[in-house]
Amino acid sequence: MADTFDAIVIGGGVIGASVLFQLTRLGCRNALLIEQGELAGGMTAYSSGVVRTHYSVPINVEVARASFAMFEGFKDLLDGDPDADTGLVRSGYLIVAPPGPSSEAVRASIAVQRSLGVDAHLLDQGQALAKHPWLQLGDIDAIGFEAEAGFADPYLVTTSFARAARRGGATIRTQTEVTGLIRDGQAVIGVQTKDGPIHAKVVLSAVNVWSRVAAGWAGIDIPFHITAHHVFTLAAAAPYTTDLPVLKDLASPSKLYMRASGGHLMVGAGHEGHPASDPDRPDLEADQDTLMEEAMQAAHRLPAFEEGRLVHSWSGLYDTTPDWNPVLGRVPGIDGLQVAFGFSGHGFKLSPMIGRMLAQSMLGLEPDLPINPYRITRFEEGDLLTGVYGTGAVS
Ligand SMILES: Cc1cc2nc3c(=O)[nH]c(=O)nc-3n(C[C@H](O)[C@H](O)[C@H](O)COP(=O)(O)OP(=O)(O)OC[C@H]3O[C@@H](n4cnc5c(N)ncnc54)[C@H](O)[C@@H]3O)c2cc1C
Repeated sequence: MADTFDAIVIGGGVIGASVLFQLTRLGCRNALLIEQGELAGGMTAYSSGVVRTHYSVPINVEVARASFAMFEGFKDLLDGDPDADTGLVRSGYLIVAPPGPSSEAVRASIAVQRSLGVDAHLLDQGQALAKHPWLQLGDIDAIGFEAEAGFADPYLVTTSFARAARRGGATIRTQTEVTGLIRDGQAVIGVQTKDGPIHAKVVLSAVNVWSRVAAGWAGIDIPFHITAHHVFTLAAAAPYTTDLPVLKDLASPSKLYMRASGGHLMVGAGHEGHPASDPDRPDLEADQDTLMEEAMQAAHRLPAFEEGRLVHSWSGLYDTTPDWNPVLGRVPGIDGLQVAFGFSGHGFKLSPMIGRMLAQSMLGLEPDLPINPYRITRFEEGDLLTGVYGTGAVS
């Protein structure tokens, strides 16, 4: 006889683990997470871990803000677990823009954040240098800063959520691949795995860059493509310390973001990335010419890195929708199935609140924040979640 659970989550990244934890908190203890590899071994392992609320799309600001509050109160959120940790460094987030449209976008986004109660401000150059003395700001017009931001550790967050879910009664099966969905007419009533069928009242697919495979099981087409994005670290003569805010440089050709990492500078490209096709093969070798070019861009903003040494680099994949925002919740016409994909480069910072909203949706409850803006049908309806930045992970 097939195993039976109240709810199944496919995918053990930060999104799946967050949902599983929230299911148990909402009283759904007979929940199962199935992961083909190990927890946090998918794209969560490649994440730069930046957390911020700087968006121009208001619902993103609200989800990011609620998530940041959950990161800050993580031990309490996880029922007082003394071992729970996020590795959160509350360094703040500083965004700089040259004159022109991106400068206007920074001002507009700060206004949106402030209208929603976020502690975000425009700074003059003196104020910015007081927060980040390493900066060169000669070509910069607008500077935004928010205090409720920084970076955290995606592995710690994922495994903390998973432990808390287990304590709440949930089951986690790793090294177990889902190979299809079990249907009863149009409804999904479980999943097929290599170890046999498992039944459930509701199934969530949270498989990130593998979502096209999952869409194939459901027989639906999804608005989605995958792209490769590289990250690297640089060393300067002096340590780059964690009191320096996360930096987003809209004046750099590659729209770089930068943060401290073990005394080094972590640099990631914030552009549209490089087309990729195989979710199992993130391009682990970043192109050296590109890295050198982007290291020079970083050194333009932070001259202490003009003689910087390249320490390490890696690439990961983004799951990207046409508006670079996630698709969450029910799939019209298929009862019992919910999806979570399209987080591109900003799924980690949204993961705590997204977990809550998805768990509520799976259990037929009203989500604490509206999930409808993230509905899958918004693309065919022409109701995209696009703000003043256009498409991109800062949307
Ligand atoms: C280079 C890089 C930098 C990033 N930087 C940031 C950042 O600074 N801040 C931020 O907020 N976000 C960032 N992101 C984005 C963020 O990390 C992701 O959005 C987030 O980790 C996605 O989590 P997930 O759970 O959806 O996916 P994943 O972690 O990929 O988890 C999906 C899981 O599904 C499993 N799976 C797939 N198919 C099956 C199957 N058939 N059966 C069972 N299991 C299956 C996979 O093994 C995988 O573990 C970055 C991403 C990358 C790649």
